[in-house]
Amino acid sequence: MGFFESLKKYKSQLDAVDSSVFYGSKTLLEVYERNAKLEAEIEQRTKELDRANKQMLTLQHIWNMMNSSEPLSSVLNAIVNSLQGELGYVYSFIIKPQIKDEESYIQVAASSRQDLSDKFARYFNCKLSDYKMVYPQIEELKNAVINNNIYQSSNVMDLISGLIPDLNKERLEKFFQDANMKSYILVPLVSKDIHFGSLIVFSSRENISSSELNFLGLFAKQIELAITIADLFQAVKEQAVTDSMTGLFNRRYFEEFIKKEAIRAERQNQHFTVIGLDLDHLKQINDVYGHNYGDIAIKAIAEVLKNNARSIDIAARMGGEEFNLILPGVDSAGGLVAAERIRKAIEGVMLEKIGHITASVGVATYLEHTDDLDELLELTDQAMYESKRQGRNRVTLAKPAKETSWQDIAIKTYIDILTKHRIPVDETTSKLLTQKLKEMNFNNEKLYQVADALISTYNPDHHDGSVKQKVLLATLLAKRFDLSKESIDKLKIAVLLYDIGNTMLPKELLNKKEPLSDEDKESIKKHPVIAAREILKPISNITDIIPIIEKHHENWNGTGYPNNLAKDEIPLESQIILIIDSYFALLEKRPYRDAKTKEAAIKIITGEINGKWSEKLAHEFISIVKNDLD
Ligand code: GH3
Ligand code: MG
Repeated sequence: MGFFESLKKYKSQLDAVDSSVFYGSKTLLEVYERNAKLEAEIEQRTKELDRANKQMLTLQHIWNMMNSSEPLSSVLNAIVNSLQGELGYVYSFIIKPQIKDEESYIQVAASSRQDLSDKFARYFNCKLSDYKMVYPQIEELKNAVINNNIYQSSNVMDLISGLIPDLNKERLEKFFQDANMKSYILVPLVSKDIHFGSLIVFSSRENISSSELNFLGLFAKQIELAITIADLFQAVKEQAVTDSMTGLFNRRYFEEFIKKEAIRAERQNQHFTVIGLDLDHLKQINDVYGHNYGDIAIKAIAEVLKNNARSIDIAARMGGEEFNLILPGVDSAGGLVAAERIRKAIEGVMLEKIGHITASVGVATYLEHTDDLDELLELTDQAMYESKRQGRNRVTLAKPAKETSWQDIAIKTYIDILTKHRIPVDETTSKLLTQKLKEMNFNNEKLYQVADALISTYNPDHHDGSVKQKVLLATLLAKRFDLSKESIDKLKIAVLLYDIGNTMLPKELLNKKEPLSDEDKESIKKHPVIAAREILKPISNITDIIPIIEKHHENWNGTGYPNNLAKDEIPLESQIILIIDSYFALLEKRPYRDAKTKEAAIKIITGEINGKWSEKLAHEFISIVKNDLD
């Protein structure tokens, strides 16, 4: 082989080696690249898996939340909070359209991250949840808020300044920068086919990927479920009237029932009695035999109450080991008998392991011990505690609320007026009425009869029974204005006495057939003053009632008498008397006109709005006479 041949061969060998080295390294590179790609993919997939896992956990967490009986607002707050942190969202909140008093606006129903909410409040001097937001101007955004469209954008400014236009734009921009909010997505929330509001999520990324969109859609579905479930819980809770452990009525039902019963009792002047009962030494039973046996003791009491209640009685478990029984139409004597029977029956129960149980009982009667509902329950409780104090397993009757009730004051005043002949009533009538008053024992009916009788001495057209209706109306009206019990008591006395000055007017004037002359009118105008000054002033315990009576002919617009007082210068009690007196006067016949119908009287009352009385007073009054006195 020549030199060149050898060289050629050598070269071709070299080339072969070279190319095999080249190709070999190419394969290696490929493998390496493929591996790297695979690794990246694995990393990516792991990340996705991790994210999906977190999303699953979040959904799971919401699911758990939903199955609790928490109120909707706390469920929503917990849900938006779970979107935070690990899922990479900066902030999220739920908005909800509201319509209140014919005003429609948007309000934040829940928000995540207290720190950001606090910061927002500091930045803008108002809590986000307090803002009454408006519908954004930008059409697409507005549609998304109103309708059920998903909407995403990186223009966070548009969203917030659309919802709250009066925020300072520069500060807002800075706020977003600081908080690293770069884009947002708005997902509609629909519960039972009704648009509930929208979930708004802020992200630190410019764009929200399609898989995130899917997840947020799922997330919104969970919120919708939570809303539906919470709604159902609420409805069920509101409908429940019984206590699940005992089957007795629950506290909510008891409170509703007793309010209605009080109105009924007042109208029909009928008593009802409340028996309050507390199991003795339950703690000891729990401690010695365990909580289950404590429950058994509670259920045993419930059974006794069920067996001893008439069909019209209401037996309720107020909570824990405390029970109340309402006995409609029963006075304190009857209530005591029933309470004693129940106490004995409880004592007679023999329970496994525990043996005998006992209860302490208190009894109070409406319109006998008090005519105030809260006070009635307070008195029942006090009596029950007195039973405990005296050694348990006994019944105690409540003590009357106060030494001097409003009835007491009225009775004393009437007796004073009659016996000291402050009014021109004949001797026999006077004696008869005084006798009636002295016999009175918490019986409002007799008090009203005396008032009716006195008015009849100078007004032959007076309807018997209307004094009672006036007191009832005045009480209902005063309660609408949240007057205190003390003020209402004064008002009741004033209603009984405001007309007393009429006894001093010459009968001819009151019975006059032809329309009254100006002179006649002047003389009638004086009557409230006469009543207040001449008749009532010498009686010591009604000094604070006289001003009410003195001002009950002042008109809202200042045209009344005697002092042309207007608006708030006139005590509310006097305004109430004026409207009630006018209404009942219209229903009575007068020598110069027929009696008006209720409808006609209401029309006249309406016509005097802003004249004789304020709009509010007239409206409240009319709504009461239309509904409550039917
Ligand atoms: P007293 O005679 O003074 O009423 O003594 P007491 O131990 O019955 O009263 P106390 O108020 O000291 O304790 C009441 C206990 O009743 C405490 C509470 O844990 C228990 N209790 C409240 N509700 C229930 C219930 O539903 N079941 C059971 N087993 N115990 C209850
Ligand atoms: Mg107890």
